[in-house]
Amino acid sequence: MGRKDENRDRKRPRARARADALQGPGPVPLQEKNRARELRTTAWWRKKIAAGTCHYCGKTVGPHGLTMDHIIPLSRGGTSERFNIVAACKECNNRKNYLLPAEWEEYLDSIKNPPR
Ligand SMILES: [Zn+2]
Repeated sequence: MGRKDENRDRKRPRARARADALQGPGPVPLQEKNRARELRTTAWWRKKIAAGTCHYCGKTVGPHGLTMDHIIPLSRGGTSERFNIVAACKECNNRKNYLLPAEWEEYLDSIKNPPR
């Protein structure tokens, strides 16, 4: 009997997260928002922004010019885990917010290999 409960626990968020990603943005789980907020207070995050460099465009904007960005947005089933979080300048963060993932990839390519 105890076995059933274990199963229920195990298939918690991941399968659902993937479905969300396919269906498009969904509601952001409050729990993940809170986790992101907590991460902002850690030495890990301070170290990440200390260099003041944007993860995406590589611009140096200083620690105060950086924002926390989820590589996979929370609304797409991403989580507030360290591997999913980078420091991005406000410009990149804004841009990424309204672009589709594929468009964002294109943008990143364009700044890494500027057209001549
Ligand atoms: Zn940037």
